[in-house]
Amino acid sequence: MDNEKLDYFKDMLLQKRNALTGIVRRTEGYGREKDGNTQDITDMAVESYTKEFMFGKSAADRLMLRNIEGALSRINGRTYGVCESCDDEINPRRLEAVPWAAMCVKCQAALEK
Ligand SMILES: [Zn+2]
Repeated sequence: MDNEKLDYFKDMLLQKRNALTGIVRRTEGYGREKDGNTQDITDMAVESYTKEFMFGKSAADRLMLRNIEGALSRINGRTYGVCESCDDEINPRRLEAVPWAAMCVKCQAALEK
């Protein structure tokens, strides 16, 4: 992959990472600031539901962040866009949709089976 393309995907990944780290930080702050407050039972039920939702989302965000970090390190190592499993080039259209993809469609499908 040429430098121009690498820069293009790097920008996409960095933007996505910035958006995600914003979310993760807000979620962590949310967990902290609510601890230790006294609440009645109704508030607590709503609170625990909201917390579950936020932390569930946060776990998915963290996984996504790890994938993005992996893709960024592959860009630095200049192995980005090459399937980690079969060494074929990953379809650029796939990278447009999933810029943190580490495998081609075929290997990903085989893995998920
Ligand atoms: Zn592959």
